[in-house]
Amino acid sequence: MVHFKEINDRIEKAAQEYERDPKDIHLVAVSKKQPETRIQAALDYGHRLFGENRVQEAIERWEHRRADYPDLKLHLIGPLQSNKSGEAVALFDVIETLDREKICESLSEEMQKQDRHLPCFIQVNTGEEEQKSGVLPKDLDRLYKIAKEDCGLNITGLMCIPPLNEPAGIHFGFLKKLAGELGLPHLSMGMSNDFETAISFGATHIRVGSALFGQRPSEV
Ligand SMILES: *Cc1c(COP(=O)(O)O)cnc(C)c1O
Repeated sequence: MVHFKEINDRIEKAAQEYERDPKDIHLVAVSKKQPETRIQAALDYGHRLFGENRVQEAIERWEHRRADYPDLKLHLIGPLQSNKSGEAVALFDVIETLDREKICESLSEEMQKQDRHLPCFIQVNTGEEEQKSGVLPKDLDRLYKIAKEDCGLNITGLMCIPPLNEPAGIHFGFLKKLAGELGLPHLSMGMSNDFETAISFGATHIRVGSALFGQRPSEV
């Protein structure tokens, strides 16, 4: 029912082809909107790293499972509103979508309050699309400095979602260059349709949903 074996085989193959260590490539299984039976099948397979794009939905799906799966790791991959920062810090293990000063401040405050210091990635709007979240490339240095120096956040990587109508590789290569300039080790890029390309450009975290779980029922 779920396709973890196939996708892991493809990751392994791409890693070999592009001379990457497969241990450096983390499969973030995007479980948003997926039925419970598929989530359970993924857990039964032994997978423990999941991505969700909405805080409330993630709480409903995962909070009650924490006790049974203590090694569960959850990444927030969708936009965060500052009034949800407290809940996000309490539930997630990595925030991938830092994109503005206000979110840096509210996350920093909550992390101190809860004494939970999560690694964060900055989301970059590499295609400079108006409707897409993420910091513009020209504003990345400034946001990084604020996040790190003023807010004391632990920034470990960058994340992007390339425009649909452009070759993803251009954006993956650009994100890798930006991360290199800042000395950041993690790159979250690549989804169901392009994760092998992302691996070729150095992705350390690929976010795969439909190829693992099947199409999201609400999007059929
Ligand atoms: C939904 C989503 C994914 C997964 O998309 P698929 O095409 O189903 O693999 C990856 N990243 C983000 C940010 C998403 O919202």
